[in-house]
Amino acid sequence: MKRSLSTERTYSLGDYKSLKISDKIEEIPEELAMNPEFMETFRHLQLMEIEKAYYDYSVVSQVMRKDGTDGERLVALTEIVNSTFSIIDYSKRTFNRPKFFVWTPGQHIIRILDTYIPRKPVYWFGSGYAQALGEDDPQALLNKRIRLENPDNFRNVRGYRGLSDRYAVNVLDRTVAKVCPNCDADVKSVNSTFPAICPSCNSPAVVNVQVASLNKVRVLQGGKQLFEQFLTRDKDTLDGEGNPRGIQNFDIILHVVGSGAQRTAVAVATTNYDVIEISPENLFDTENIFPKFTEEEMEQLIRGVTMRDIFAARRSTSLTEESTESTAVDPEDVKKKVEELFA
Ligand SMILES: [Zn+2]
Repeated sequence: MKRSLSTERTYSLGDYKSLKISDKIEEIPEELAMNPEFMETFRHLQLMEIEKAYYDYSVVSQVMRKDGTDGERLVALTEIVNSTFSIIDYSKRTFNRPKFFVWTPGQHIIRILDTYIPRKPVYWFGSGYAQALGEDDPQALLNKRIRLENPDNFRNVRGYRGLSDRYAVNVLDRTVAKVCPNCDADVKSVNSTFPAICPSCNSPAVVNVQVASLNKVRVLQGGKQLFEQFLTRDKDTLDGEGNPRGIQNFDIILHVVGSGAQRTAVAVATTNYDVIEISPENLFDTENIFPKFTEEEMEQLIRGVTMRDIFAARRSTSLTEESTESTAVDPEDVKKKVEELFA
């Protein structure tokens, strides 16, 4: 059954006149309608659209003398509405935005929770990975051309993007860490030293937080170098009878050196075998971590259009249409922006 969501607001214009603006979204699939996070975000959006319509109305009807303040607010509102649309994951199946494992140099303790780990061939487009579409997708064709024209140094030619495998898995992050009281970010030590301010929001409040095992489900993503070690640990970590314990049945220490592209991690099995039970609704969807683009969109990426702009352009497509965009933007950020604007 499809639902609809309508919101209306009445503005007093003085002189006993008022202006009523309403916004209605119809045909919301039930899976989305049952998701409180989605519906709340949409209610916010409707209010923003209404507010925007009101400002539109004010700007047009009152014939602004100084186009400063109201004009600027209108631009700000438009921007917020657009960016909010661009971060909404329209995928029907889940609205549980993944929370990612935080990498820092030093030691981390994890327990792998999934039995199935998807492997995705991807290209790196500067701001994120895009799933490859097959052997003759636009990037593959461009790569072929570049390789033919520059057999010796094709990797260094502008536009060439090698295909690589990316993996993502739910883990229980048991690393001893802090949680920022201001923005809720996982704050981890860098080579055993905790930062004086939160790396996410720069809040100094993090100094007084006690360290404890994080104990939260996070999505760990990585390449072949890391995930092949998990495969090996799965095989070579044995119980008393010489049988593999299974990768989900022991903690793993990740020794991390360096950061960014220079980061390397060594995965070592521990002897901590406690039984962990996590209910499936607390796991994230690892199948759609890396966004999928159409051939046309991939051509746009190749031309330098950002992923963000492509997601924003999808805004015009119908809500019920299947699409798999996903970014790691927190809905809290949107709320904060809205609150700031109306403070
Ligand atoms: Zn913070």
